[in-house]
Amino acid sequence: LEQWDREYIWHPFTQMQEYIKDSPLVVERGEGSYLIDIEGKRYLDGVSSLWVTVHGHNKKDLNSAIEEQLNKIAHSTLLGLANVPSILLAKKLVEITPPGLNKVFYSDSGSTAVEIALKIAFQYWKQKDGGAFSKKIRYISMGEAYHGDTIGSVSVGGMEMFHDIFRPLLFDCVHVPAPYCYRCPLGLAKPSCGMACAQAVEEVMAKSHHEIAAMIIEPLVQGAAGMIVAPEGYLRRVRELCSRYNILLIADEVAVGFGRTGKMFACEHEGVTPDLMCLAKGITGGYLPLAATLATYEVYQAFLGTHSECKTFFHGHTYTGNPVACSAALANIKLIEEERIIGGLGEKISFLEQGLKRFIGLAHVGDIRQKGLMAGIELVKNKGTKEPYLWEDNIGHKVIMEARKNGLVIRPLGNVIVLMPLLSMSIPELDRVLDITYHSIAKITG
Ligand code: PMP
Repeated sequence: LEQWDREYIWHPFTQMQEYIKDSPLVVERGEGSYLIDIEGKRYLDGVSSLWVTVHGHNKKDLNSAIEEQLNKIAHSTLLGLANVPSILLAKKLVEITPPGLNKVFYSDSGSTAVEIALKIAFQYWKQKDGGAFSKKIRYISMGEAYHGDTIGSVSVGGMEMFHDIFRPLLFDCVHVPAPYCYRCPLGLAKPSCGMACAQAVEEVMAKSHHEIAAMIIEPLVQGAAGMIVAPEGYLRRVRELCSRYNILLIADEVAVGFGRTGKMFACEHEGVTPDLMCLAKGITGGYLPLAATLATYEVYQAFLGTHSECKTFFHGHTYTGNPVACSAALANIKLIEEERIIGGLGEKISFLEQGLKRFIGLAHVGDIRQKGLMAGIELVKNKGTKEPYLWEDNIGHKVIMEARKNGLVIRPLGNVIVLMPLLSMSIPELDRVLDITYHSIAKITG
């Protein structure tokens, strides 16, 4: 299997194949917080299988919900037909997301949820008030943003690495400074900066609002950029600015949704309702691919009209609203509610926070950023000068491979080691995640 994996699979981010070639990990099963490989070796899943798993692997309730639906029907189309689980799930999503979001458009991945939001925002202004706002065709997004890998979602991404090679294909987007306080792009420091990064958003909007359709943001935490946590009040300020300047706000909750930050949705921390909200990853608890883009009625109504008025939103994936995936999502949300998962997170979040404190004592740990059960540990060559490790140092991968030898799967994002434990992880398991991570960083960085 290891040989065929190397021979036949083109893994995402090809260079990863290079890193893992001497010690591949072929997963065969999962059990609670553990991944089990083909040789029966157990690994703690410290990244929730790419930030998706909520209740653990091989959870009976989720397996049974999926099986029950499979015994009814595996798939039917939402193009012209409806199905039971997708209706029930849409109703549930409208109930649990911030008030005001009340239409659900389904797709299959975080990238498509974003792509859909961008297209809706574009078309909304084209159609609103008979096309009076049709010059609003650009977007604002954050420096260091990550919103997916399709052309549209890469266009609004702000990470050079993902962008550069595709630049000729990408559409226009204005990037505002990321609220990356450890390496402030404006060269300022908290608290004397007075949140100048939010002021920069206002400057862009004041100047260009007549041509901006929407601003897209990862609420509270820019995950793929290495867990950049925005200062308190930033998201609320962005919401106010979008409303003031007549710009739609798209909240990309693909990574932070479904409990990650300690509340069901990150927008709740600041009482924000976006105009469009993108959900994926944790929506099925990590069991099946599914995504949803939610819209307010105000946005939706710009698409109402007769066939001849051509207000149709031309977008529809084959597996949109797949009944099995929707059943998994319904079961996932039911479990979150029944097992009071969100209420129980407080203790785990503080445990993680306490446990991370000792990491700052390590010679090459420059910064630690945490929100809820997501954390990033930034490694630096020199703590005093914040000199970063170079790409060729490959430091993140060395650390995660050391952790893997010791039975823990974690992930690097450049020089940042990311921890994304399952929401269901027990305190002793969390302790082990912290312990192995600490010793792996200490061993590799010296
Ligand atoms: N938005 C955010 C904030 C993400 O973190 C990701 C995935 N890491 C995506 C969008 C893209 O999701 P997917 O990989 O399911 O396309």
